[in-house]
Amino acid sequence: MTQVNEQQLIAWRRELHSWPELSGHEVETTARLRRWLQQAGLRVPDYPLETGLVAEVGQGEALIALRADIDALPIHEATGLAWRSRNSGVMHACGHDVHSAVMLGAALQLKAVEDRLAGRVRILFQPAEENATGARTLIASGVLEGVQAIFGMHNEPGLPTGTFATRAGAFYANADKFIVRVERATSGTDAILVASQIIQALQSLTTRSFNTLDSLVLSVTRIEAQRDNPADPGEAGFGGTVRTHDKQVRARLEQRARQLVESVAAASGARATFSWHAGPPVLENDPHWAQFASRVAQQVGYQVQTAELHLGGEDFAFYLQQIPGAFVSIGSASAYGLHHGGFNPDEALIAPAAHYFSQLAHQALQQLSARCRDTTLN
Ligand SMILES: [Zn+2]
Ligand SMILES: [Zn+2]
Repeated sequence: MTQVNEQQLIAWRRELHSWPELSGHEVETTARLRRWLQQAGLRVPDYPLETGLVAEVGQGEALIALRADIDALPIHEATGLAWRSRNSGVMHACGHDVHSAVMLGAALQLKAVEDRLAGRVRILFQPAEENATGARTLIASGVLEGVQAIFGMHNEPGLPTGTFATRAGAFYANADKFIVRVERATSGTDAILVASQIIQALQSLTTRSFNTLDSLVLSVTRIEAQRDNPADPGEAGFGGTVRTHDKQVRARLEQRARQLVESVAAASGARATFSWHAGPPVLENDPHWAQFASRVAQQVGYQVQTAELHLGGEDFAFYLQQIPGAFVSIGSASAYGLHHGGFNPDEALIAPAAHYFSQLAHQALQQLSARCRDTTLN
């Protein structure tokens, strides 16, 4: 297969990087992607989307989807690079600019061999991954219609460039949030003290009430409290995040945490409310397609590993609730991690990953159309 010009992909990535946009506001990003795709001769079918877009290549019934996310974060960039963010306080600190360049490259490479494809490839440029709404918006607008398998990637700063990892079954976590408010503490009680007792009880809940083999993280990430004078019971609240990889563990944790918050508060003469905010669900890779994705990665020269359970949340999980597919990690060798102002992924990952995804789509279509021929013959 022809290789797409690496310098071009890097230049596009840097342009996206310089002009990052927040979730749901990816207007200029969408316009740029549309322009580059159309200049390369790709079809950009109409879907009712405010931001984000879809490109298509090939002909026929068999249909594979590839997905990139395109949004950035409210983070101040601290890399000092020549192509650093020009939108103050907004940064591509999760590497979605890199993911976009990879899937642009895959789209162009597939376009170059369009007449040899055993079907169609639909490339999704998805907005609003960071607030976990974009995948659902795209699904509601019909982008999965006819799609038989879907693939996507996230760069992994902790892995060296040239390394690939995925796993069958559960991969990224259920990523939920909770908020606790200590209310109606009566005089003689201390809302701040009650809140700190609840936090301690929650921390030991995960070690006492769950199997050590259950993948489970509960972390308090912020706390607020106020008191006007020493006699005032005060007000206190805190919030945190919970990561699990199993539906039952998730449900049991929510129930146990709620009970614990209410009982610790009651024992101290206060009342506390516990609210749960469901995030993206556990991302479950289809075993067949996860293995297929690893095999193609090996063929194109990646160092292939089995991924560990990932504690991050990822809204690609919503696609995998509808159709089979696989999400994969590609090493980006950044000294600073995701969502950090110093995050700086290795751009050398872009061209090989573009080549990989075009090969993956190409071979997945061959397999799907061969399967389809078999069932017609039988
Ligand atoms: Zn992110
Ligand atoms: Zn991300």
